[in-house]
Amino acid sequence: MEQNMTSLIMIFGATGDLAKRKLFPSLYRLFERGKLSDQFAVVGVARRPLSNDEFQQSVKDSVISSLGEKNSLDQFVSHFYYQSHDVTDSNSYVALKKLADEIDAYYQLKGNRIFYLAMAPEFFGTIALHLQSDGLTDVTGYKRLVIEKPFGHDLESAKKLNQQIRTAFSEEEIYRIDHYLGKEMVRNIEVIRFANAIFEPLWNNRYISNIQITSSEILGVEERGRYYESSGALRDMLQNHMLQIVALLAMEPPINLTTDEIRSEKVRVFRSLRTIKGEKVNDYFVRGQYGPGTIEDQQVPKYRDEPMVDKESNTETFVAGKVMIDNFRWAGVPFYIRTGKRMEKKTTKIVIQFKDIPMNLYYQPEKMLNPNLLVIHIQPEEGITLHLNAKQAGGHLNAQEVKLSFSNTGTYTMNTPEGYEKLLYDCMRGDATNFTHWDEVAYSWAFVDKISEMWEKTKADFPNYSAGTMGPEAADQLLEKDGFFWWPVTDLEVDVCK
Ligand code: NAD
Repeated sequence: MEQNMTSLIMIFGATGDLAKRKLFPSLYRLFERGKLSDQFAVVGVARRPLSNDEFQQSVKDSVISSLGEKNSLDQFVSHFYYQSHDVTDSNSYVALKKLADEIDAYYQLKGNRIFYLAMAPEFFGTIALHLQSDGLTDVTGYKRLVIEKPFGHDLESAKKLNQQIRTAFSEEEIYRIDHYLGKEMVRNIEVIRFANAIFEPLWNNRYISNIQITSSEILGVEERGRYYESSGALRDMLQNHMLQIVALLAMEPPINLTTDEIRSEKVRVFRSLRTIKGEKVNDYFVRGQYGPGTIEDQQVPKYRDEPMVDKESNTETFVAGKVMIDNFRWAGVPFYIRTGKRMEKKTTKIVIQFKDIPMNLYYQPEKMLNPNLLVIHIQPEEGITLHLNAKQAGGHLNAQEVKLSFSNTGTYTMNTPEGYEKLLYDCMRGDATNFTHWDEVAYSWAFVDKISEMWEKTKADFPNYSAGTMGPEAADQLLEKDGFFWWPVTDLEVDVCK
C-alpha cells in the first residue's frame, strides 16, 4: 500500500463547521504524532475573503478549542493557505490552480492532491467538473476526492451525483466518508470476529438469536433543521452508518484484508438484504418524531417547534427496523436497528444475543438464566463486554450473571484517535477500505428508498415519543412480537478498570 504522506490538501468549505470542529484538529493530531511529513500543505477554500494570516489564526483557534494550547501550532499553521473562491466561477479555479502549482513546487509535493469537499452536497458535482475542466486534476502524482455525506437523497440523485464526479475521478480515487467507519470499535468488529476462535464458529443462525444496534443521541436538530427536514433519521443515519455496521457484522470472512476483498464481502451482504416494500414496511419499520420532554433536568421543545422546522412536519427523528439478511448464514436472524434524536442517552452499541442453551439446569421459578450477550460499545465508551453465567459465590449452585469487560479507555488510558483523524490518514496512504464504495451506496439507497416511498405516501401520527425516552412504543412492539426486547442501554455499561 502506498505510504506517501506528501500531499496538498485542498479543503472546500474551510470556514465551515466541519472544517473547524473536525478537520483542522484531526490534521493537527496527525502532525503532532509525526504522521505528516514536512512536505504537506493545506489550501482552505471558501466564499468569504480572508488573508492567509486570518485563516491561519482561525485554524489555530479551532485546534485550541478542541485540543487546548499546543507548542507547535505556529509551525503547523505555517503550512496553511487560503483562497476566497466562488465554486461556480471558472476564474476562481484558474487562480486556485496557480496557487496550488506554486505551493506544490515550494514544498515539493510531487503533484499529489487531495480535494476534500466539506460543503453542501449540491456543489459536489459542480466542483468535481471544474476541478477537471480548469486543470486542477491534471497532476503528475495522485488525485483523490473526499466527499461528505449525504451522498444523494435517494438512488436516483445518488446516481446522478456519481456520474458527475466520475467524469473527473475514477472510483478508486473517490473516498466517500462515513465517519462511523473511522470509529475505533467499528473497525474492531472484524478483528473481534475473525481473530477469535470462540466467536466465529458461533457467528451464525445456529447460535445467534438476534442482533441489536442502537445509535441514540440526546441532542435535537440544533441549527440543522433545514437539512434535517429533507433528510430525517432514515436518510441521515440508517442508509449509511447503521447499514454499514450491519454489513460489518454480517459479512463473510474476506480472503484477505485488501480493500477490494473487504468491500466485495460487504456488498454481498447488501445484496442479501430482504427488500421491504409496500404495506410490509409497517411490519418491519417504525418511525417516530419527538414531542416535548425533559432531558438532563431541562425542558426541551418538540421537533415541530425547532428552528427552520415545519409546524406540521412529517419528518422522522427516530427510526427502528428489523433487517433480514436472506443468506445461508443469517436466515431467520433479525438485525434490529434503531436510531434517533432527543433520546434518553447518547450511545452507540451493538448487542449480539446468543440463543438459549438447550436445557437450563439452574432454573428457579422466578429467575430464568440470562442469555449470553456480546456487547460492542462504540461510543462514548469503547470496549466489549461478554455477559456470561457463573456460580454465585458461596451458598448453592445458583447461576448469576457475570460480565467480562475490555475497555479501550481502561487499557490504553487515553482516548483513541478521532474517526476523522484515521480517515484522513487512510486517504493520504491511499487506503480506501473504510470508505464507502459506490456499489454499497447504491444497494443501501435501493433498500431505503422502498421505505421512504411508503412513508411519504402517508402522514404519520407525530409526535409519538417524548424527548428523553428511547423512542415510540411501537419500536418495543417490533421486538415483542418476535419474543425479544431491546436490552436497556443503561444496563449495558462497560466497566472501566483503570
Ligand atoms: P457549513 O455550512 O458550516 O460550511 C459550508 C462551507 O462552504 C463554508 O466554508 C462556506 O464558506 C462554504 N461555501 C458555501 N457556499 C459556497 C460557495 N458558493 N463558494 C465557496 N464556498 C462556499 O457546513 P458544514 O457543517 O461544515 O458541512 C459541510 C459538509 O459536511 C456538508 O455536506 C455536511 O452535510 C457534511 N457534514 C458535516 C458534519 C458536521 O459535523 N458539520 C458532519 C457530517 C457531514
